[in-house]
Amino acid sequence: MKKIAEALRNWLGLDYQTAYVRDYFYTSNMRAATYMSVVYIALELWVTLRMLRTIFLNGRQSELLARTEHYLANYAVLFSAAVLMLLYALRFFKRSPRLRLIALLPGVLCTLTAFFEVWILFLRSGARSDSRTRINDTVLLAASLLLILLSGLLLIRRKDVRKHSIAMIWVFAVIGINFGMYLSSSAYERGEQVFAFLTMIMFVLCLLTWRPVIGISVLTLSYILFFGELNHKVAFNNAAGLPGVSESTTINGFTLWISMVMICIANYRKVRAQALKDEHLEKVNAHLSEISVRDELTGIHNMFYFRTEAEKLLNYVTTDRDSVVYLFLDIENFRSYNEKYGFQEGSALLTKIAGIIEKAFRGSLVSRFSDDHFVVLTREDGCTESVAAVSEEIRKAQREVQLSLKCGAYKPSDGETDPSLACDRARFACNSIKKHFRRTFRYYDKSLEDRFQLKAYIVNHIDAAIEHGDIKVYYQPVVSTADGCICGLEALARWEDPTYGLLPPGTFIEILEEYRQIYKLDRCIIEQVCRDYREAADSGEPFAPVSLNFSRLDFELCDIVGDLTQLVRKYSVPPEYLDIEITESALSDQQEFLPDALRSLRRNGYKIWLDDFGSGYSSLNVLKDYHFDVLKIDMNFLSGFGSNEKTMPILSNIILLTKELHMISLTEGVETKEQFAFLRSIGCDRAQGYLFSRPVPLKELRAEIRTGRISVSPEFMPGKS
Ligand code: C2E
Ligand code: CA
Ligand code: CA
Repeated sequence: MKKIAEALRNWLGLDYQTAYVRDYFYTSNMRAATYMSVVYIALELWVTLRMLRTIFLNGRQSELLARTEHYLANYAVLFSAAVLMLLYALRFFKRSPRLRLIALLPGVLCTLTAFFEVWILFLRSGARSDSRTRINDTVLLAASLLLILLSGLLLIRRKDVRKHSIAMIWVFAVIGINFGMYLSSSAYERGEQVFAFLTMIMFVLCLLTWRPVIGISVLTLSYILFFGELNHKVAFNNAAGLPGVSESTTINGFTLWISMVMICIANYRKVRAQALKDEHLEKVNAHLSEISVRDELTGIHNMFYFRTEAEKLLNYVTTDRDSVVYLFLDIENFRSYNEKYGFQEGSALLTKIAGIIEKAFRGSLVSRFSDDHFVVLTREDGCTESVAAVSEEIRKAQREVQLSLKCGAYKPSDGETDPSLACDRARFACNSIKKHFRRTFRYYDKSLEDRFQLKAYIVNHIDAAIEHGDIKVYYQPVVSTADGCICGLEALARWEDPTYGLLPPGTFIEILEEYRQIYKLDRCIIEQVCRDYREAADSGEPFAPVSLNFSRLDFELCDIVGDLTQLVRKYSVPPEYLDIEITESALSDQQEFLPDALRSLRRNGYKIWLDDFGSGYSSLNVLKDYHFDVLKIDMNFLSGFGSNEKTMPILSNIILLTKELHMISLTEGVETKEQFAFLRSIGCDRAQGYLFSRPVPLKELRAEIRTGRISVSPEFMPGKS
C-alpha cells in the first residue's frame, strides 16, 4: 500500500524536488514557452492578416466585422500573450536588453481589446449573445487586463522575476484553452472537428511540465468543461431533432485524455531523470574542481589556483598593478620543529599557520607554495603590518623550537603577469635574508636581480657547461704534519664560464642543490678525477689520493655509488685513491638510505671523511652514529687563532677525541706557520690550507711540485703505487 502511494506520488510529481530540479523544470518550461510563443506569433499573424484581408477586400465590411469580431479579439489576445511570453522567456535567457520596448505592443493591443470587451459586455445594447460567448468575453477581458499588467511589469522590472514569468505561463495557458474551447465549440456547431481544442490542450501541456499533477488537473478540468458544454449542445440538438455527438467521438475523446495523461507523466519523468543526472554530475564536478584547487594538507588554496587567479587578476583592467605585491613566506626552523615533535604535529602547526596567514591577508590571494612556504598576492598598502602580525602569531604558536618568519616581496613591473616568475623572485628575496637573524622582510631589488639572473643562468646552463668542459677540477693539497709533504688532494669544482668568467663553488653549489641538479656536477667531477689519475699513472707522474665532496642529494637523486663504481672500473682507479667527504649536516637528516650507502662505499674500499666537523649542531651525535676514517675539522676553529684563547684547548681536545675514536685528524684553513706549528704540536695528523697551496688546476700544482716549493709524500711517487 505504501509502495503504491509512493509510486503514485512519484507519477503525479508530488515528490520532493531539489532546488536544482525545480530550476531545471523552470528552464525547460521557459524553453518550451519560447518555441511555442514563436509558433503562435507566426500563426496568429497569418490568420489575423488573412481575416483582415477578407474583410477589407470585401464590400460588406461591417457585416463581416460583426461576424468575426470575437475571433479577432481572441487572436489579438492570444497574439499579445505569445509576444509577452516570448519577451519573458528571452529575458530569462538574458537575450533581450533592447527588446523590452516591444512589450508596449501587447500592452496597447490588450488595452484596445479590453475596451472592446467592456463595450460588448456592458455597453452595447440589443446584441444577441449566448452564454458561451459571454464566458469567452469575460475571459478575454480578464486576460487583457492581466496582460496589460504583465507588460507593465516587464517594462519596469529589469531583472528576471520568476513569479511574473510563471504567472505569464499560466495566463498564456488559460488564454490558449479558452481560445481552443471557443473555436472548437463554434466549429462543432458547424459540424466540424474539435481540433482547435485538442491542439490547445496539447500546447498547454507542453507549457506546464513541472509537475504532472498540474498538467493532468488542467487537462481534466478543460475536458470536463468542454465536453460538458458539448453534451449540453447535444441535448439541445436532440431536443431540436438535430444530429448529436456520436458515441465514437466521446470514446475517442476519452482515449485522447488517457494518452495525454500518460504523455504528461512520461514527459515529466524523462525531464526529471535528466535533471537528477545533471544535478549529480554538477555536484561531482563542483567537488572535483573544489579539491583540484585546494592544498591537501592545509585546506587553503594550492598553487594551481594561485597561478590562474593571479594571472586573471593582473589582467583585469581595473586592477591597479602599481599597488600589488607578491609575498613569499618561509617559516624558518620549521624542519627542526618537525624533527622534534614529529610529522603529525608539524602538519597540524602548518595548517594552523596557513589559517593565520589567510586571516591576516583576508581578501587577498593566499596559497601554500610547498612545504613550509606560502605565497600571497596582496595590496602593497599595509602588507608589512600584516606580515608582522603573522610573525607575531607564529611566535605565539611555537613551542621549544624557535620559529621565525621570513618574507620576500616582489612588485611586478608593468605588463608583467607571469605569477610563477614573480613567486620565484619573491622567494629569492626571502632566501637572501634566511640566515639574517634580525631581518624578516626584504624587497626584491636591483642587487638581487643580478644574483637572480646568475641563478637562472646556472640552472639553465649546467648541462651545457658539463658538455663543453667548462666545469673544471681544482686540486688543493692536504699535507702530513709529520713531514709537510702532500698526502692527499681535495677535488674542488670550478666553473669557467665564457660569460661570467671563473665562478667559485659558492655561487653555484647551493643553487644546484636547490634545483636538485647537483648530482650532475658531482658525477662530472668524479669522472675528471678518475681521468686525471689514469693519465698520471700512465705517464708516470706523482698522484695522491683525492677526496671528493659528495652532496647529501647525490644519494637521493642518483645511484652515486653505482656511478662511482662504474667510473672507477672504466679508468681502473684503485679505491684507495678516492676518499669521500660528507658534511655533518648531510648526516643529521636521518635518511635511511644514507647509512646503507656509506656502508656499501666502505665495503668497496673507499674511505669516508667527515667534512666541516663542528660547524653544525649535531657534530657529536654524528660521531656517535657513524664511523669515519678522517675527521676534517672546520676552518672556523682556526679563525680565532691567536686572539681567542679558547681556540687552542678546543682544538687540542678535538684531536684527543679523534685519537680515542681511531680517526685521522685533518684541520682545514691553515693559513699561517704558527697555526701549522700548533697543530703539529697537539698531534693533528694532517693540514690543509692556503699556507701550502690554494686550490689550483692539476697542471699548476705539478709546476709547483717541480719547483720544489711543495713535495709529494714518497709513498705517492711513481713506482710506489
Ligand atoms: P669545503 O669542502 O669545505 O672546501 C674547502 C673550502 O675552503 C674550499 O672552498 C677551499 O678553497 C677553501 N679553503 C681552503 N683552504 C683555505 C684557507 O686556508 N683559508 C680559507 N679562507 N679558505 C680555504 P671552495 O673551493 O670555494 O669550495 C667551497 C665549498 O663548495 C666546499 O667547501 C664544498 O662544500 C663545496 N664544493 C666544492 N666543490 C664541490 C664539488 O665538487 N661537489 C660538491 N658537492 N661540493 C663542492
Ligand atoms: Ca670538503
Ligand atoms: Ca670543509
